[in-house]
Amino acid sequence: MGQALSDAARLQPLEGRTPAIATLCSHSSLQIFHGARAEGLSPIGICVGPPQRFYDAFPLAKPDRFLSVPKVADLPTLVAPLREAGAILVPHGSFVEYLGPEKFAALDVPVFGNRAVLGWESDRRKERDWLESAGVPMPDRYEDESEVDGPVIVKYYGAKGGKGFFLAKNREALADFTPTGPYVIQEYVLGTRYYMHFFYSPITDGGYRCGSGSLELLGMDRRDEANIDELYKLGAQEELLKAGLRPTFVVTGNVPVILRESLLPKAFDVAARIVERSIELFGGMVGPFCVEGIMTEDLEFKVFEVSTRIVAGTNLFISGSPYSDLKEPGLSTGRRIAREVKHARATGRLAEVLS
Ligand code: AMP
Repeated sequence: MGQALSDAARLQPLEGRTPAIATLCSHSSLQIFHGARAEGLSPIGICVGPPQRFYDAFPLAKPDRFLSVPKVADLPTLVAPLREAGAILVPHGSFVEYLGPEKFAALDVPVFGNRAVLGWESDRRKERDWLESAGVPMPDRYEDESEVDGPVIVKYYGAKGGKGFFLAKNREALADFTPTGPYVIQEYVLGTRYYMHFFYSPITDGGYRCGSGSLELLGMDRRDEANIDELYKLGAQEELLKAGLRPTFVVTGNVPVILRESLLPKAFDVAARIVERSIELFGGMVGPFCVEGIMTEDLEFKVFEVSTRIVAGTNLFISGSPYSDLKEPGLSTGRRIAREVKHARATGRLAEVLS
């Protein structure tokens, strides 16, 4: 994706030294810094504007140092100091969104995971091709409004946090919809949402085999989404509309959940398919990813999104989750990332987990 250096040249600053772990001070940075520190890797905080004081309140998650720039557009100027520091960048939702997937992917600093995945995740059509060709069940998509035969959700390209989503109970209700940009119309799936935090390691032996390595489940959450999650109190979407409120899915927090144990095979099967297809399509998705879907009353799991990096829901589990505790007590996704870097370095396989 337009990066100037070859993979080998980009990883060159890491030769013969213990890497540092750097990320943007936002989203899941406390967890990432905490995990790096716990594994003996120096955390570096990247910030826009002066460092936030709240890191002083969390000594176990405070970066050893901060690199700051006045505005987001200046972030690429940090490439030289980051290379000098032997830093590995850990992408998270805010980091990639603020900078834009193309600009992020063009940074000549080693990135944890496969940067090629960002181009697949940020384009809803490409993401759908990936998931459908992996045999993953997804909500139906309607090419034309005349095909709509039930409730639908209309999503604009690139809409984040559900802002700009439009819900229609049926085809007639779609008449109220005036598009302001490119969009897709999807079946509105009724059921329970689950956001499953997986980790794929191509260099780990044992465990649940997948691709050339192992697939791990580290946690699960559900997102609190304002103001749609309040619908049940008002009774129906119309009530929100009557109150002059358009339903949105803006995330305001996360709650921990666990899945019925008998549904775990389904969860692993879907996640493994996504990983295996990613290997065929673009050399594989490495590290944390989140499978986001809805379990229907028929116990069918329909995936509406895959986030191909650490998600903020993992912040619930900085001291472990009901799943990660069964692998290693107290293991967070942030710590798992640092552990992967250390393991890859010790076995001379850094090139397989970095890009
Ligand atoms: P997304 O931007 O695709 O992650 O969707 C944002 C939110 O919209 C999700 O967290 C769900 O609450 C909701 N959502 C997305 N797609 C669907 C769907 N097909 N059916 C029902 N709810 C959905």
